[in-house]
Amino acid sequence: MVNTDAWKTLKAELDLRGVTLIAVSKTKPASDVQALYDLGQRDFGENYVQELVDKAPQLPADIRWHFIGHLQTNKVKYLAPFVHCIHAVDSLKLLQEIDRQAAKHHRTVDVLLQLHVAEEETKYGLDETALLTLLDQYEAQRADLQHLRIRGLMAMASFTENEAQVQAEFGRVKTAFDNLKQTNFFQRPYFNTLSTGMSGDYRIAVEAGSTAVRIGSLLFGART
Ligand SMILES: *Cc1c(COP(=O)(O)O)cnc(C)c1O
Repeated sequence: MVNTDAWKTLKAELDLRGVTLIAVSKTKPASDVQALYDLGQRDFGENYVQELVDKAPQLPADIRWHFIGHLQTNKVKYLAPFVHCIHAVDSLKLLQEIDRQAAKHHRTVDVLLQLHVAEEETKYGLDETALLTLLDQYEAQRADLQHLRIRGLMAMASFTENEAQVQAEFGRVKTAFDNLKQTNFFQRPYFNTLSTGMSGDYRIAVEAGSTAVRIGSLLFGART
């Protein structure tokens, strides 16, 4: 069940701060997406390629679809025709494939690079050093990567009750983001997106400079 009151409250709270609300509709039916669309929600996030590819055609074409999960290179082609932003990019190989597939459709796809700041071990995401290495590689090949735009960074904080820790982790992402903004290339106005914050920690994320929060369960209820 969609919680329309939660949407209205959250939307008002985020609009006041200029933060984009991405409604994360993974595992939820197209009818739930439509219900929030009818209230005015346009940015939706999904984690699974097949689910998104099934859902999108059932819904209005002006929805901005954000792919927020880990994306395998061989699945980029399914999203390239319509995806608005790919949030968790962490390799040159993936950037190259996004560019190649977007070019086929004469599109430009927005991407965010994923910084890993949480304590949980994962093979996804970059630390600060790997982020800079990837950006060097990107800069060297930029002329061949015209069908994507790196809009900013994405990150997840640790799953912990320790607010100070979450705050520190989001702070780390904000510092990396601000440092990149100082570099020549990223002084461009479109490098403006910091995707941090979920249902449980979005207020901390916004305090720490988030410009886009990814909210699922608060809007759509718990996932089974
Ligand atoms: C599922 C998911 C969310 C939303 O999580 P909630 O806790 O339900 O708000 C946000 N970001 C990512 C990357 C997710 O996988």
